[in-house]
Amino acid sequence: FDNTYAKLPERFFAKQEPARVPEAKLIRFNRELAAKLSIDADWLESADGVAMLAGNAIPEGAEPIAQAYAGHQFGGFSPQLGDGRAILLGEVIDVDGARRDLQLKGSGRTLFSRGGDGKSALGPVIREYIVSEAMAALGVPTTRALAAVTTGERVMRQEGPLLGAVFTRVAASHIRVGTFQYFWARNDIEALRLLADHAIARHYSDAAEAPDSYVALLESVAAAQADLIAQWMSLGFIHGVMNTDNTAISGETIDYGPCAFLDAFDPGAVFSSIDHRGRYAYGNQPAVLKWNLARFAETLLTLVAEKPDDAIGAVSAVLDTFVERYDAYFAAGIAAKLGSPGRPLDRTLVDELLTIMKEEGADWTGTFRALAEVLRGESADLGVIIPAGRIDPWLQRWRGSLEGDVRQIADEMDRVNPLYIPRNHRVDAALRSATDGDLEPFRELLEVVTHPFDRRDEWAEYAQPAPRVFSEGFQTFCGT
Ligand code: AMP
Ligand code: MG
Repeated sequence: FDNTYAKLPERFFAKQEPARVPEAKLIRFNRELAAKLSIDADWLESADGVAMLAGNAIPEGAEPIAQAYAGHQFGGFSPQLGDGRAILLGEVIDVDGARRDLQLKGSGRTLFSRGGDGKSALGPVIREYIVSEAMAALGVPTTRALAAVTTGERVMRQEGPLLGAVFTRVAASHIRVGTFQYFWARNDIEALRLLADHAIARHYSDAAEAPDSYVALLESVAAAQADLIAQWMSLGFIHGVMNTDNTAISGETIDYGPCAFLDAFDPGAVFSSIDHRGRYAYGNQPAVLKWNLARFAETLLTLVAEKPDDAIGAVSAVLDTFVERYDAYFAAGIAAKLGSPGRPLDRTLVDELLTIMKEEGADWTGTFRALAEVLRGESADLGVIIPAGRIDPWLQRWRGSLEGDVRQIADEMDRVNPLYIPRNHRVDAALRSATDGDLEPFRELLEVVTHPFDRRDEWAEYAQPAPRVFSEGFQTFCGT
């Protein structure tokens, strides 16, 4: 361990050891990631390793803490949230020299638990494991899953007593927009400056050289997050709870609570049981990010200039470029999905496709794979998704816009358009089975979604969207 966060002043966190659990059992661990972190995989699987992953033993050099943060949740500000069910063990340096947080999620109560038990049920642990590893395989910046253990304990949830579990999360850091808001709400300028300097050193060292390093920090975070959300949009990913405490300064996707993937394309798609007004609907995500960045910018004003009013110009200039920046990332993403990498497509061509997809309720992931098949002379897959009469005129214009050998273009498309994503009904089935004691569906789904681009005949079913009856009533839950 080489801990830097735990060296910050005490008001940044609460020292907290994980709770002991009666019967730790390793159900999954990520050998590849362990190797990347220079952690001996055989040791991690041993009784001592599992004891650490369950919170029963503290490894040498760890300085367990719960981090303080605040956040806007569904637009309402909570000045104190913090790690209520997570404990940061410390930081390790991976084989590429990058600093990585090691965090136990579901390891018992902390100073920030409020009414909660600080624990996790197995279901949400399985969900985070599957979806975060799928996102990594898809090339999306994300926190990672190192391990999942069951605890032999029951946790009480709405559904009744459920098997408890602990998830080991690896992240570039756990600094959130909400971490800045915590000190901003307390008017603690000294802490804000320390935090900003820490974030710059850790994630955006170039910003330190800029004429105004705090404006540069804002700009870096805005760029990283705009790029991230454009990738979510390209994949049809719906985070579900884009509160400012779930917006990471690193630009990684964090907190796989009520997340889901689109099947039928619909900008208004929302699956979270608590998102009654659709604030975090698929199509709202870029606008929500812009709002979250404005909240981040607010916390930096006093660092940028002595009188916050004097900083508004410089900070607004960054926020004002957000839409343009996001549009550029998304346009590049869609161009690549449609076989024109590095060459933005005519906007009306893209918009028309999206209109057809929306009207036909076309499966988002399936459509792009089927379009590549069309270039190979196979239109059957697309025909199942969108009637030929509806899409043929568009197909002709699209083909006319492509440059180069169509078979090569089709192969390139297949390298950016996944065949297998963690489809909602599959994730749901995997976590239901796991809860009932059968881990096989979880293992198989994980294997499939961590190979998102390689077609395998035996995985044909995994490429299929959920039956309509499933999707129409489907809801996701936060797991709290
Ligand atoms: P989330 O919705 O997962 O981003 O969490 C929002 C806040 O609720 C954070 O401060 C969490 O630490 C806290 N929280 C969520 N679940 C629990 C739990 N079971 N016990 C204590 N705190 C929790
Ligand atoms: Mg959270």
